[in-house]
Amino acid sequence: MASTRCTDRVVGSILASWRYDISGIHPEMRKDYEGHLADCAHCRSRQKFHRSLDVSLAVLTSLAVLFFLFALAVLKHVKPLDHVAFNVFGLDISDMYHMLFSAGIAGLIFSVIAVVLVFTATPASSYLGGLAAERARLLEERLPAGIKTTRPR
Ligand SMILES: [Zn+2]
Repeated sequence: MASTRCTDRVVGSILASWRYDISGIHPEMRKDYEGHLADCAHCRSRQKFHRSLDVSLAVLTSLAVLFFLFALAVLKHVKPLDHVAFNVFGLDISDMYHMLFSAGIAGLIFSVIAVVLVFTATPASSYLGGLAAERARLLEERLPAGIKTTRPR
């Protein structure tokens, strides 16, 4: 990444300030930036890097939500806490349960807020939607002609 240089520093710095996300710009204005991204390998690689960061954040925060849901399910259905509460911490079972349940709920709320922030503040959702549409188009091209004609448009 450091070996390449931007071909137009003014446009490159504008794109950098937007984290190389031009999805929110009016289509008329977008053409110049799309042209620069097509020409400039530096900005194209930076854009790819920023989109992969967004996708990583989306995946990590979504996994956090799933893990907290799993932890709450474990608290609800498995009872190994009896042993831990008495022998390790010397606590009452109900105190231990309420403490862990509160921590699980707090973690779930924070991770849901993080997911919402990632999907609203970054172009991760539109980027992932674009990837899914591209995949669907590629799969549809590979379908045999007999199936293509029976598919509704
Ligand atoms: Zn550039």
